[in-house]
Amino acid sequence: MNKTHLIDLHTHSTASDGTDFPAALIQKAAALGISALALTDHDTIAGLPEARLAAGKHNIEFIPGCEISSETREGRFHILGLWVPEDSPPLHTFLATLRHARHQRNEKIIAKLQALGVDISMKELEEIADATPGRPHIATLLKQKGIVANLEEAFEKWLGKGGCAYMPKEVATSEEAVEFLSSIGAMPVLAHPLLNPISHDDLSALLGRLKERGLMALETWHSAQNTHQSRLLIELAKKYDLGLSGGSDYHGLAKPAISLGIGKNNLAISPDILTALKARRIQ
Ligand code: AMP
Ligand code: FE
Ligand code: FE
Ligand code: ZN
Repeated sequence: MNKTHLIDLHTHSTASDGTDFPAALIQKAAALGISALALTDHDTIAGLPEARLAAGKHNIEFIPGCEISSETREGRFHILGLWVPEDSPPLHTFLATLRHARHQRNEKIIAKLQALGVDISMKELEEIADATPGRPHIATLLKQKGIVANLEEAFEKWLGKGGCAYMPKEVATSEEAVEFLSSIGAMPVLAHPLLNPISHDDLSALLGRLKERGLMALETWHSAQNTHQSRLLIELAKKYDLGLSGGSDYHGLAKPAISLGIGKNNLAISPDILTALKARRIQ
């Protein structure tokens, strides 16, 4: 594979639950020959200025983004916003509301853990996280305290659905998230559609509904999707006239199996993908 022909449109930094500072993420991308990168932190755009500055220095095309959790009839889905307008007051309000819900959920999880006899506090959580504390940070604390061996175990036994300290988070509906991103001129992309089990018919119905609300693309290449699944998603994207997007969902050491640009399974996302998305953007 030619090293200079790679892009990555889904990554996380320390602004949310990744472990690389935005500038370090860009530096890593440059070293790998990645020519374009989107930073898509959960519920925040706090990492974008630093990443953009670094991208300028390394001659990497930078796409400002974010990732929003949502829920609808068919389950829970993440919606990526690409080319988010960073100076948009409605965007700041929207993201602040999401972070507030996240904060409230964190408080509930910490209280539950305390009730279960774990010595843990909100102060520790705020110290370990940069801008957007979430379950991965709580998982890291549980590991540091020797309560779990790794983050997987933290999610399985404690923090994930079915775990003893699981708490749901209030989220936007997928329709609202898509409509909102569309309304501010960002490009809404359905992220890793197959991360949770969903039938083909349900996914198809969901895409039809979200397309009507302004969905513009489907993340057909992702670390959690194999070649067969990608092909199936490309077919669905065609059916609903959606663009194709792809990214590793790199989180640094928080998900050590996922490499920047290449993901888990030799992702090779072509710069042509970005060209096609940009063409859709101006249509
Ligand atoms: P939160 O945003 O607080 O709900 O946490 C969700 C985030 O936790 C996801 O975006 C993933 O980055 C991470 N995550 C979910 N499941 C796992 C897991 N089994 N192991 C490690 N990280 C996970
Ligand atoms: Fe994450
Ligand atoms: Fe996600
Ligand atoms: Zn992500």
